[in-house]
Amino acid sequence: MRLFFLKDFLDLVFPRNCPLCGKSLFDFEPCLCTVCQGTLPRANFHLRAFDNELTSKLRGLMPVNRAMAFIRFTKKGKSQKLLHLLKYKNKPEIGEEMGRLYGLTLVQEGGYSGEWDLIVAVPLHPLKQKRRGYNQSEKFAKGLSISLNIRSKEVLERRKFTETQTKKSRLQRLENVDEVFDLKDSENINGLRILLVDDVITTGATLCACANVLLANGAKLVDLATIAAGGQ
Ligand SMILES: [Zn+2]
Repeated sequence: MRLFFLKDFLDLVFPRNCPLCGKSLFDFEPCLCTVCQGTLPRANFHLRAFDNELTSKLRGLMPVNRAMAFIRFTKKGKSQKLLHLLKYKNKPEIGEEMGRLYGLTLVQEGGYSGEWDLIVAVPLHPLKQKRRGYNQSEKFAKGLSISLNIRSKEVLERRKFTETQTKKSRLQRLENVDEVFDLKDSENINGLRILLVDDVITTGATLCACANVLLANGAKLVDLATIAAGGQ
């Protein structure tokens, strides 16, 4: 009973509000209010995971298997506000919540179970991560990991491109990427089916670069999932 009093007291002093609409949250609402959750602009790519506008966009850049996004990115819409809060307003809990909700959606609507051995997030550059305090894509991976019951691990690293690495890939040349991705030295991903995740997919260049590193290091397959898809 005492705990309840303490919680009521804390809610009174530090009220929790929905970051999208500002309404105060009920105990059963971990991050977004029920109305905002229900009106997210869902993309439903998981219903046609092997053949949708994302897979078409990526064909030729990597061996595409499944490509999915939870919501559609729309300028001035809910998705833009969510991503802005997640990336620039110190709200890492939004990333985890998006992962949790998308994981539930994949299980309940897509019938997913046991498709992957490991969830891997696209790494941020270490300096950027230090400034932000967290990697938003890792938070998305963590939420997915909880609701899909699959482990997530940061097996990739990102570092500045140096001139000694003379063989730029086609993608890096296309995008003028001055950073490269690598598998961390201590990691072994041989034979694993990997779900690679990021916050947003626009051109797909970053995701493809990471996917190709995972495949070159022995991953059996790489599927892609992002919080949002669309221009930004
Ligand atoms: Zn709300």
